[in-house]
Amino acid sequence: MPYKSFEEYNIQVTDDVKDRYKNIIEDLGEDTQRDGLLKTPERAAKAMQFLTQGYNQDPVEVLKSAMFKESYNEMVIVKDIELYSLCEHHILPFFGKAHIAYIPNGQIVGLSKLPRIVDIFARRLQVQERLTEQVLDCINDTLKPQGVAVVIEASHMCMMMRGVQKQNSITTTSGFRGQFEKIETRNEFLKLIGK
Ligand SMILES: [Zn+2]
Repeated sequence: MPYKSFEEYNIQVTDDVKDRYKNIIEDLGEDTQRDGLLKTPERAAKAMQFLTQGYNQDPVEVLKSAMFKESYNEMVIVKDIELYSLCEHHILPFFGKAHIAYIPNGQIVGLSKLPRIVDIFARRLQVQERLTEQVLDCINDTLKPQGVAVVIEASHMCMMMRGVQKQNSITTTSGFRGQFEKIETRNEFLKLIGK
């Protein structure tokens, strides 16, 4: 088999979380012995480990593993990066898109690494504001570009399914460092991502 993809779970964590999920499901008034729910606590325990795997990954290492000396010094943009995270206030999903730009300062980074670091920070309990800052700071401090910009647009299930029930509202957060603090550079970026 030339390629094999697999998921690994910590057995101890899976067991502990599984038992707690079983209690939660019962507290909510369900019968965990019902056919469809028999394996649900274990599946939920594994799903939660998958969705919070970012705690065990180091975004700085990921960036450093693919940095290259290069004299290119124009804006590099990766837009429409799919994003799935969990709001730390309700442990409900928020999802949307991230747009990242940077202006190199002697070094570029492998383009696939930018979505990777979005994932690493998104697969934790988050708030959209901090997620935006963490992606921004990680790129700024590691790659040390002339400037970096991050825009995140997301829909929050905790707003859509409960609370105010605003199904179509999208929350936008943004952060800018270095050259992007200049209004012309920032506007060029926003225009290129269609904002
Ligand atoms: Zn929430």
